[in-house]
Amino acid sequence: MRQLIAGNWKMNGLDASLAEIEALARMLAAKPVRCDVLICPPATLISRAVGRCGGGIQIGGQDCHADISGAFTGDISAEMLRDAGATAVIVGHSERRQYHGETDAIVAAKAKAAWRAGLTAIICIGETLPEREAGKAEQVCKMQLSGSVPRGATSENTTIAYEPVWAIGTGKTPTNAEIEAMHRHIRSCLGSPLRILYGGSVKPSNAKEILALPEVGGALVGGASLKASDFITIVEASHAGA
Ligand code: PEP
Repeated sequence: MRQLIAGNWKMNGLDASLAEIEALARMLAAKPVRCDVLICPPATLISRAVGRCGGGIQIGGQDCHADISGAFTGDISAEMLRDAGATAVIVGHSERRQYHGETDAIVAAKAKAAWRAGLTAIICIGETLPEREAGKAEQVCKMQLSGSVPRGATSENTTIAYEPVWAIGTGKTPTNAEIEAMHRHIRSCLGSPLRILYGGSVKPSNAKEILALPEVGGALVGGASLKASDFITIVEASHAGA
């Protein structure tokens, strides 16, 4: 399976930031890679990013509402993301779970909405530090998978992102053995062979060793996706099905 290197810009990016997507597109055109590349900018930039990414990069959303339309001020439906040119959407990111109180059931409804609109759902799971220290990481991830991944998930419509909450934006990562063990565990919990990304402080300096781990189907990258020069190093570190 091809690896996927996905960038999550979070609440970062103005019109000028599209120059990073253009730079990335130029680098990919000059030196093609065999992995899939996705950038999830803020919703305000999606259609402009699609217009300037040159086709070698897919553009995605960072969240969607479960309904098609209606009285949900400030929310964005999966259909709206699709209409803007997105091909995928992140759902259940730990920042949505933490700051917006999103439960597994809400995440599952959003994943179904993504499918309904023809988007790939990138469903995030991951344990907190106290959960890991209490030896509950595998149990927590199993529960999140069973609650957040709807029946009908296939490798075409769904990607899982394992993101230990304590590793996001902290510069800390699990050991390679811990990443490998968790990815094997996640695979054993899933009914179908979905791509499983690792996310949490992936950087140019550690991407190669993480992406070389056998069960790792790619990376979900936050901070290091904001600069094309950092992100391309991570993209090039992908073994890309070679
Ligand atoms: C993320 O937010 O999904 C993420 C992995 O962030 P960072 O790479 O900055 O840790």
